[in-house]
Amino acid sequence: MADSLSDPSELLGLLRLGPACLGGASAVDAERGFALRLPRGLANRIRPEDPADPILRQVLPVARETDERRGFSKDPVGELRSPPEGGVLRKYRGRALVMVTGACAVHCRYCFRRHFPATEHSVVSSRLHAVTEQLARDRSVGEVILSGGDPLTVPDDRLAKIVTEIAELTHVRRLRIHTRMPVVLPQRVDEGLIEWLAGVPLPTTVVIHANHGNEIDDDVRRSLAALRATGVTLLNQTVLLRGVNDDADALAQLNERLFEVGVLPYYLHMLDRVQGAAHFEVPEDTAFEILRELRARLPGYLVPRLVREVEGAPFKIPVDPKR
Ligand code: SF4
Repeated sequence: MADSLSDPSELLGLLRLGPACLGGASAVDAERGFALRLPRGLANRIRPEDPADPILRQVLPVARETDERRGFSKDPVGELRSPPEGGVLRKYRGRALVMVTGACAVHCRYCFRRHFPATEHSVVSSRLHAVTEQLARDRSVGEVILSGGDPLTVPDDRLAKIVTEIAELTHVRRLRIHTRMPVVLPQRVDEGLIEWLAGVPLPTTVVIHANHGNEIDDDVRRSLAALRATGVTLLNQTVLLRGVNDDADALAQLNERLFEVGVLPYYLHMLDRVQGAAHFEVPEDTAFEILRELRARLPGYLVPRLVREVEGAPFKIPVDPKR
């Protein structure tokens, strides 16, 4: 992570692209604390000399992020209005989301938490006990989700401490880890992590996040195969993004590539309307067409559920063409 790219000009130089791709956005963005962050291994998966590359579009700050668009806000799903209590977010019945950290290995320009002060709300070591006390008081919590930021940006010993305390709560029956790390920085899936994960005493699901087949290279395949060998269930969630994956070919290829290494599709999210990401929005009619096409060409188990998150709703709302 320390070796990641943070200077858009350096990235464009590596890709033999001109500064016109930036439109002066880098300075604005750095001020907002959501500057370019890109592991070099992921940068190597970007096609040189192609400003329309689907990975580049996900990570390069562009001037359009400063456009004000009606309906787009800093708090698209209401997490600032109802922030996590002591690092624990309660959205859906029976599940509790623990914000382990605010850090990520990559800054995805469409991220719905790009304005969320996750570091402020995450679980620092001194608050860990308060988190487990809170979870212990509510026996309806059957599943704990480690999220952030990206929980795999924290060291193994800290993850182990958090999960050991959670696993002692007899009513918690499942663990879930939401992470983009196996895709964006596959070296994170090292021996230490694998050894720890294999010993977690709860049935565990690791939900990765990949949006395009070009993100899946041999290093990623190895990281996913290693995770799978620990016995965890592997699922993928994708955000439907204009100019990145808004066609059935791209999504079919992504899900077929992931299936080859044991990952099943979970959600295909409509964009959360976060300020700065309006240029990524895909109209609902286009999303329907893509979903129909995916259903026509893939077996049902390779078609993700198209959903939208609605503030206050008791579950993710299916977005379905009804025919
Ligand atoms: S890895 Fe996830 S949490 Fe981090 S910036 Fe990307 S979408 Fe947001």
